[in-house]
Amino acid sequence: MALECTLGALRNLDQTDPDAVQALLDVCTRALLEPSLWYWAIGLTIACAIVGALLGATKGRWMWGLIWGAVLGPVGWIVVLLSKATQPLCPECAKPNPPGLKRCRHCGVDLAAAAARSSRSRLRDDTRTGTWPK
Ligand SMILES: [Zn+2]
Repeated sequence: MALECTLGALRNLDQTDPDAVQALLDVCTRALLEPSLWYWAIGLTIACAIVGALLGATKGRWMWGLIWGAVLGPVGWIVVLLSKATQPLCPECAKPNPPGLKRCRHCGVDLAAAAARSSRSRLRDDTRTGTWPK
């Protein structure tokens, strides 16, 4: 029977036999150095980082999302999703824009004019309900 690196093999290991201990150590070392294991680990890390970057981009912080996704995987995605956008949101399309832009980089609307329009529409709502705007 070929020796395998399992918890059962470790449990049944005769710790007084140095050859048996060395044989199990060799098998486990070979299993951990198996290249396909590392291809999977690196591939999953890159995939988690890309998903994190995409989620972070919706908050205007793709690099921050990339790091959280790479380090914590799906837990990092949740951290990114629960975080607040740090950049001002466009009044028209509600996507984040870096401060100081004149036009939304997503929908191209004039940000100052859109902000004024949205405050006017608030006034319209107040007029409709019969109260004076504040
Ligand atoms: Zn926009």
